[in-house]
Amino acid sequence: MRLFAGTPFDRPPVCERCGEREEVCVCPPLPPPPPVRVAPEKQTARLAVEKRKKGKVVTLVRGLSAADNDLPALLARLKNAVGAGGAVKEDSIEIQGAQLERVQAVLQEIGYRVR
Ligand SMILES: [Zn+2]
Repeated sequence: MRLFAGTPFDRPPVCERCGEREEVCVCPPLPPPPPVRVAPEKQTARLAVEKRKKGKVVTLVRGLSAADNDLPALLARLKNAVGAGGAVKEDSIEIQGAQLERVQAVLQEIGYRVR
């Protein structure tokens, strides 16, 4: 009597989708799961107005990570609402000009907590 008869160790691992053994399986890799997004209500945006070189002023939105938020979409919404240019910089959004109140209003409208 074989020790592992009838246990999973007895059989080579097979693909869950095609049932072939893993070494002959030709299934394409599964697409990555969609990113887990955190509800805006559970996130706090930190706003700041900063002076840059040559007297340029920008409004910064920090605290909203690129993993939990669609920052390009948020940037587009902010630019549209404020009527100014801007850019996504890693985990922050930069809007041109001192736009604290309008940026805050847009973020709060979406549901973010703002500080
Ligand atoms: Zn397969």
